Amino acid sequence: AGGGESLLLALLLGEGTSFLDEKAPAYWNERARRTLESALTLAPVTRRAKNMILFLGDGMGISTISAARIYKGQLEGEPGEDSRLAMETFPYVALAKTYNVDRQVPDSAGTGTAYLCGVKANAKTLGVSAAAVYGKCNTTWGNEVHSVLHQAKQSGKSVGIVTTTRVQHASPGASYAHVVNREWYSDADLPKEAIRQGCKDIAYQLVHNTDINVILGGGRMYMTPRKTPDPEYPTDPKQSGTRKDGLDLVERWLSAKEGARYVWNKEGLDAVDENSTDYLLGLFEPKDMKYELNRDTSTDPSIVEMMEKAIRILRRNPRGFFLFVEDKLIDHGHHSSRAKQALSEAVMLDRAVARAAELTDASETLTVVTADHSHVFSFGGSTPRGNSIFGLAPKKAEDKRPYTSILYGNGPGYAIANGSRPDVRLHSESGKLDYRQQAAVPLDTETHAGEDVAIMAKGPMAHLFHGVQEQNYVAHVLAYAGCLEPYHAGPECPAPNGRSGSLGLGQPPSLLLLALGMASLLLRM
Ligand SMILES: [Zn+2]
Repeated sequence: AGGGESLLLALLLGEGTSFLDEKAPAYWNERARRTLESALTLAPVTRRAKNMILFLGDGMGISTISAARIYKGQLEGEPGEDSRLAMETFPYVALAKTYNVDRQVPDSAGTGTAYLCGVKANAKTLGVSAAAVYGKCNTTWGNEVHSVLHQAKQSGKSVGIVTTTRVQHASPGASYAHVVNREWYSDADLPKEAIRQGCKDIAYQLVHNTDINVILGGGRMYMTPRKTPDPEYPTDPKQSGTRKDGLDLVERWLSAKEGARYVWNKEGLDAVDENSTDYLLGLFEPKDMKYELNRDTSTDPSIVEMMEKAIRILRRNPRGFFLFVEDKLIDHGHHSSRAKQALSEAVMLDRAVARAAELTDASETLTVVTADHSHVFSFGGSTPRGNSIFGLAPKKAEDKRPYTSILYGNGPGYAIANGSRPDVRLHSESGKLDYRQQAAVPLDTETHAGEDVAIMAKGPMAHLFHGVQEQNYVAHVLAYAGCLEPYHAGPECPAPNGRSGSLGLGQPPSLLLLALGMASLLLRM
């Protein structure tokens, strides 16, 4: 290109391009040329990772990512379609098949077991292989599988979980619990038979299984004895403690750790000195945390604020850390067919992704963003460029009524009464916070979807995320990148540090480990 054209391109590619610029082929050609140049210089980082961060958008299917991108751009006053999420700047992308061993369309427990423990499992079960039967306590034993969080701790790293739901919920639960029913939050949720057989609830396992350095989210009511008033809602008995065994698990957690702090509101979290705190438990609601759009910013921390505190504590460990960061409220927003809530949460998760990059060294941190499953969420209708993501399609439907671009395949948004749909335009409500987009089939809660989800990665070993993979592959790449069992024997991996003889991600352990074990037996003979 000549000098004159370069100047033109510089003008075209400057801040705030307009639709006019896009009419010039040079605009697209130059943009693509730059992308091509950076693709040609892209080199995989083949070192092992010191730190690993796994971001999980619960229910963040690819249609949700695309809509969140547009919403983010529109929040900044742009048309939105060509804006970029932080997660989209990651150089490596793969797709994950999300089915559970027993379900075509999965749930968050079976998928959590897959991407955290490296083994596909049955729906509604956590941290156990598919040999365990849902709800049958005595099938737990011998079928436990361990997570990358657990293996990271075993290898000497600091570990943490951050979630916008209760910390005993399915996704974070799969990082530390082994349970045949994801709803066994406290002992009050276990059937008598399970208690008799010795099964433990998820809250109990949170405190007694893996030694987790930072735990931030909701879930106070499963930690304290029945009728213990909640500190934030002391006059509401529905928010009180639920435990029948009389245990105060917060007390137990605090007394078992050195340098441990417990906080239950934003003020407490802000006051935590990250340089003198080795263990932090923060439980900010009795159950799940509030949607970002409903959050009281003076009393409850955001996902970004929780994550920042977690990273500041965890990164002090010279051996590195593993952090799991989940926004579960994307899923909750979709289940209630409130797209604005779901997309706002997806944008918040992306803000956390962007902030994490500022708090960590990209050359030694593997960052992965993925989802457990999708939702029956779609947007379409030949909408014009820059159309509000919550807006209407330009043409009316066959019933002479307008329709929103966003629709759900099923859910509580089903609104046909006397054979006709409500006229969204009459109520001009489609952009409202609690508006439920219409659905084709009535259900009290909208469902998950079965198509693949994206895995976006950057940092050491990120290139191993490529192609179309089974979802349990995620845990294996994380373990390999971090020199965790069963991939800790490589020459680039640090020497073991008082490693216990725990099982690897998968069972049985790799042939290499078996060979090493036999060799050491032979040497002893
Ligand atoms: Zn869900």
